[in-house]
Amino acid sequence: MLVVMKTDANEEQVQAVIQEIEKMGYRAVPMPGAQRTAVCIIGNEGPVEDSRLLSMDGVKETIRVTRQYKLVSRETRLDSTLITVGDIKIGVGKPVIMAGPCAVESEDQAINIARHVKEHGATIFRGGAFKPRTSPYSFQGLGEKGLKIMDKVRRETGLYIVTEATDSENLKIVEQYADIIQIGARNMQNYSLLKLAGHVSKPVLLKRSFAATIDELLMAAEYIMSEGNTQIILCERGIRTFADNTRNTLDLSAIPAIKEASHLPIIVDPSHAAGKREYVIPLSKGAIAVGADGLLVEVHNEPSQALSDGPQSLYPHQFKELMKVIGQIR
Ligand code: PEP
Ligand code: MN
Repeated sequence: MLVVMKTDANEEQVQAVIQEIEKMGYRAVPMPGAQRTAVCIIGNEGPVEDSRLLSMDGVKETIRVTRQYKLVSRETRLDSTLITVGDIKIGVGKPVIMAGPCAVESEDQAINIARHVKEHGATIFRGGAFKPRTSPYSFQGLGEKGLKIMDKVRRETGLYIVTEATDSENLKIVEQYADIIQIGARNMQNYSLLKLAGHVSKPVLLKRSFAATIDELLMAAEYIMSEGNTQIILCERGIRTFADNTRNTLDLSAIPAIKEASHLPIIVDPSHAAGKREYVIPLSKGAIAVGADGLLVEVHNEPSQALSDGPQSLYPHQFKELMKVIGQIR
């Protein structure tokens, strides 16, 4: 349930509502907004008796939240959430480009790619140090050494860093280095990891599992937000369907659907959706056209030598082309 305050309600009245909700045995999460301030009630298993709340000073009305997820729902917060990373804002309409290799392989490789993507307009460098690989025999990432390389990339180029945490152990290490912490498709329903991500001090990039509905993705985001971290960016990266012409099927309809259902920003990863670099530019065009808040794109200086996801990694000249084309779409 949402307790909506009157537009002229003061801070004391909001605090009194919060205390009353806590007295009832629930949790109260204030949702300040440009158009209204509301307090969301969470932790109730059944309907909430709202007569006492309705009689309080400053309270305009109560609204039942019809969705299973509450804090991430557009019903609870009308304004879109903006995520701030240094001087970059995600969710303001201008797509934010995150680009780099699937995995950080060496300092030379990372710096070389980072300089190129920066020159052509990326503001965030992506690169994996802890890689969730399908085969245990595939390259698993450089671990903390990879994070140290990304730290150097940040210092040398001014790009911000997004990198994945795959378990509770490396989440603590990734938190020290990353500007945005990625939770990958395979971990989207790792609820203990999601709860821990709810306590980190950095924004979380939550990728949709290849077998998750949009409601399941939003419930996963709710796990993070209900623990306190409101800085969440969602990412559509393709789902598994019967179509085998691509690695996954990019669900572009997820972008308007998520924008309707949630106030969180949503970006698109065309690389893992396509699995083939030839399709990355066309899918990116579609993503920007349907209103994605950004792209997460794999780029490699020598894709044929890449230790992971070479076939879907753009050549540097293709990244330049991508940036030109999406500029035109916008
Ligand atoms: C990645 O971004 O390199 C990655 C492993 O993505 P996903 O979790 O979407 O497969
Ligand atoms: Mn990859």
